[in-house]
Amino acid sequence: MDYSVARRRMVEQQIAARGVTDKRVLEAMSTVPRHLFVEAGLQSHAYGDASLPIGEKQTISQPYMVASMTAALELQGDERILEIGTGSGYQTAVLSRLVKRVYSVERIAVLAGRARKILDQLQMSNINIKIGDGTIGWQDQAPFAGILVAAGSPDVPTKYLDQLAVGGKLVLPVGDQNQQILTRIIRQENGGFKREQLMGCRFVPLIGEQGWSLESIS
Ligand code: SAM
Repeated sequence: MDYSVARRRMVEQQIAARGVTDKRVLEAMSTVPRHLFVEAGLQSHAYGDASLPIGEKQTISQPYMVASMTAALELQGDERILEIGTGSGYQTAVLSRLVKRVYSVERIAVLAGRARKILDQLQMSNINIKIGDGTIGWQDQAPFAGILVAAGSPDVPTKYLDQLAVGGKLVLPVGDQNQQILTRIIRQENGGFKREQLMGCRFVPLIGEQGWSLESIS
């Protein structure tokens, strides 16, 4: 299978055709080898229009969702970004091509370890990964120009608002455990927050102090 052809088709037919126009995002998604972030048996499905299992009851997000969330951050190239839910590391890799530095938090150690390995193999050196509860953000490295949360939250964790720079954008799915609304929150100069609803989505739950409790997960 020619993965570069599959990747180009993915970008044209699933992402650009649905209205993502940010050239840098399209370019990044045309180059990051998504098939390397899934297990060998699923590599031929890696460029399909769907999320895929990555073990530990978690998923690598659908390409269109990765592109839409990334585009919603409106990145210029010099940002420091916080990502919650490293998962396979694919979204981390896309972000790493677009910003100065990515700080990514994953609560499941085995996933964080696998992601670190493949990101190192790809020589993506502007990424810090931490194992822990990402619902409390990453205080030591705040403020962030963007925060991207790749798991569904019952509400907006207040720590993310605290750790957002002025003008910074927070993109996260908010809703119940079955469906959420992809939401963007922008920190205003006057200290307020502008909130927008982007689209419906369905993510695995954000589990932690400011998300869902482990006991509540069905
Ligand atoms: N963007 C990832 C990718 O490209 O593979 C997919 C992320 S997956 C949909 C959601 C991830 O969020 C899972 O790996 C899950 O373990 C993680 N997660 C859930 N709650 C978390 C928390 N409180 N802190 C950090 N990671 C969390």
